Amino acid sequence: MSKEILILPGDGIGQEVTSSAKEVLGYLITEYSLDFNITEMDAGGTAYDKHGSPLPDNVLAKAKKSDAILFGAVGGPKWDNLGWDDRPEQALLSLRKELELFANLRPAFLFNELASASPIKNHIIENLDILIVRELTGGIYFGEPRAIVEDETPSYAFNTMIYNEDEIKRIAKVAFEAAQKRGGKLCSVEKANVLEVSKFWRSIVTDMAKYFPDVELSHQLADNTAMQLVLNPNQFDVIVSSNLFGDILSDIAATLSGSIGMLPSASINSSSQGMYEPCHGSAPDIAGMNIANPIAMIASLGMALKYSLEQKELADKIDAAIKEFISQGYRTKDISTNDEYVKTSEVAAILIGILKNG
Ligand code: NAD
Repeated sequence: MSKEILILPGDGIGQEVTSSAKEVLGYLITEYSLDFNITEMDAGGTAYDKHGSPLPDNVLAKAKKSDAILFGAVGGPKWDNLGWDDRPEQALLSLRKELELFANLRPAFLFNELASASPIKNHIIENLDILIVRELTGGIYFGEPRAIVEDETPSYAFNTMIYNEDEIKRIAKVAFEAAQKRGGKLCSVEKANVLEVSKFWRSIVTDMAKYFPDVELSHQLADNTAMQLVLNPNQFDVIVSSNLFGDILSDIAATLSGSIGMLPSASINSSSQGMYEPCHGSAPDIAGMNIANPIAMIASLGMALKYSLEQKELADKIDAAIKEFISQGYRTKDISTNDEYVKTSEVAAILIGILKNG
């Protein structure tokens, strides 16, 4: 059956990097006779300007029927003063919520050739290869009640950190299964020393371990993990955490690898529908200059092929081509150590050349 792919380039460099991913996807479709239907639509500030909403109804409806969404990036100073409901970020938040994309997979890896771009000493960072599995649709970001109470003295504000056992089980299952396919190690991160919700999280994850005897499970407190990611990141294989802690830890892990332009992400639901996007934003400072690194977006396409489009072998080919691109010495401006670099619009053709040569 044919697979539906929705491309939402969004704003700023989102347009440029998705254009590169489209080129690679077009090549794969022709070369491997893939039965994919591709639709491209507006999202974010661009959609607000053209259609009056960051995520028009027809885009959301199309997204719901798609197997994979390739999402560039949204946002920029032009839309910074809009009200909350009209802001470009609403496109992302609504898609995550409406499609129930509860599992956010963020790999953090380092090509050893790029170790000098990392802020961490080379011997600590070499061979970095971590997968952070972050719960994305629950926890304190969505918990009710929540409020700022200003008509009392003193005024106050509160949020609710809440997880039910089903939410914890489904994210833990994704993480255990990912560990089975990788190095067989899973570290569950919370604050069980101070939070009831974390104690509960730990007990559910511990209980789930009996279904995955081939995975070595450990537990760590989030503050310690923040430190360990910098001191000894190679102790980790897969990390699973809640929405709040996962948000912070995945940004620390992304920083380790040097350039944000290299890191993909996937957000998937229980039917393997997924949204695939680079970890970076719309980078208004370099938009339109043809210097953005499109590799994070192309690697996100790789994750889409693996998790939503049943084309794991092609996903592996993309990963291998990116590795080869780096080892052949190609650099985009963000990872170049001198004045020589390839432009955004040149990257896809080089990768396709590598893919053709096997
Ligand atoms: P950003 O990730 O857009 O940029 C941070 C820095 O990294 C900038 O200097 C930028 O030039 C550089 N950079 C980012 N991606 C790059 C790439 N592919 N190649 C080379 N350099 C790259 O973060 P920001 O500046 O904090 O945010 C800019 C806008 O993006 C804001 O409106 C923000 O809300 C939005 N944003 C969107 C998303 C998303 O759509 N998922 C995520 C983060 C930020």
